[in-house]
Amino acid sequence: MDNTLLIIILAGLAALLIIVMMFFRRAKRREPGSARDEYILGLKAQFDKRIDEAYEHFKKTVSLDTENVDAYLRLGNILRLKNSLDRAFQIHRELSMRGNLTEIERQEINEAMVEDLFAAEKYDEAGKTLRGLLSGDSRNEVFLEKLLEVYTLTGDWVNAIPTVERLARINPDKYDRRFQAMYKILEGIKHANSGDGHKARLIYKEALNLYNKCALAYLYIGDAYVQDNRLNDAIDWWKKLCHDIPGKSHICFEKLESALFETGKFSDIAEIYLRILEKDEKNIRAIRALARIQTKMGKKPEAIRNLKRTLEIKPNDYESLTELMEIYREEENLQELASIAEEYCILRKKEIEPAELYICSECGHAVPEPEPLCAKCHRVGTYGL
Ligand SMILES: [Zn+2]
Repeated sequence: MDNTLLIIILAGLAALLIIVMMFFRRAKRREPGSARDEYILGLKAQFDKRIDEAYEHFKKTVSLDTENVDAYLRLGNILRLKNSLDRAFQIHRELSMRGNLTEIERQEINEAMVEDLFAAEKYDEAGKTLRGLLSGDSRNEVFLEKLLEVYTLTGDWVNAIPTVERLARINPDKYDRRFQAMYKILEGIKHANSGDGHKARLIYKEALNLYNKCALAYLYIGDAYVQDNRLNDAIDWWKKLCHDIPGKSHICFEKLESALFETGKFSDIAEIYLRILEKDEKNIRAIRALARIQTKMGKKPEAIRNLKRTLEIKPNDYESLTELMEIYREEENLQELASIAEEYCILRKKEIEPAELYICSECGHAVPEPEPLCAKCHRVGTYGL
C-alpha cells in the first residue's frame, strides 16, 4: 500500500516537473529579443536593405546563440559591404574552422572569404585560397571562375589558360573555343609587348588552331610582323583575314592601307575591298572604305554611289552622311548638299549613330580599337570578335 502511494506521489511529481519545464521552454521561446527573433528581424531588415539595422540584429543573434552559422556569415558579409574588410575576413575565416558545418555552409563561407579578399584587392591571397579550396574540390565551377578572374586581373595568362581549359571541360558551352582563343591572344600580346614578335606569332597561331575564326589573331599576327619590319608578311595575313572572315575584316583596314602605302602597293586596296564585297555585299565598313579610296582617286561619282548604297542598308549611318556632305561641299554641289543636310536633320539626333566604336557587351565600355580584354570590367572576349 505504502509503495503504491509512493509511486503515485513520484509519478505526480514527475508530471508536475514536466509541465513546469514545458511552461518555461514556451515562455523562453515567446520572450521578445530571443536569438530566433533577432535573427528573423535581421533577415527582414537585410531584405529591406536596412543594412545597419540588420547588422545590429545579427550581432545580437550571435551573442545569444553562437551556433547560428548563417547569422555569422551574414554579419561578415555586411561588414564587407561596410568596407570593414579585415573584420569580415576574420569572421568568415573563424567560421570556416568549425568542425560541424554542413556542405552548403562550408561552400558559402569559402565563397564569402574569397569575396572578402577580392574586395580588399588581395588577389594573390585570393588565388592561394582558391587553389587550396580547389585541391579538395577540383571541379568546383564557382571557385575555378574566381581563380580565372584572379589570373585575368593580374595578367597571369600562363596560369589563366589551363584554368580556362579546366572550365571548358566542365562547361564547354560557356567556355568555348573562341573564349579560350582570347586568352591565347592575351598571352601573345604579352610576348609582343616584351619585344618577342616570333613567340607572339606562334601563340597567336595556337589561338587560330583553337578557333579558326579568331579575327584578332590575324590582326595581331600582322602587327607582330610589322614589329619585325616584315611588312609584306603582315599584308599577307591581313589579306587572309579579308578573305577568310570578310564580316570582321574591317579591324585591319587602316593597318592594311598604311602597309600597302608604305610598300608602294596602295593601288591594290580597292581590289581587296571589292573582293570582300563579293562575299559580303552588305558590309557597310567595306563599302565606305572603298568609297573613301575612290574619293582619293578622284572617282567621286563611284564614291557617291557607294555611300548612297550604305545609306540604303543603314539610313542613319553617320559616317556615310558626313562623307557624302564632304564630297558635295568640295564639289560645291549646293543642291545635293542641302538635300543631304535635310536628311541629316530629319533623322533625330539620337537616331544618328556615332562614329563606329567597339562596345563591350558586358559593361558598354566603348573603344576605338578592338580589344581582347575590356579595360573597364576586365571581362575577356566581350567585343564580339
Ligand atoms: Zn566591359
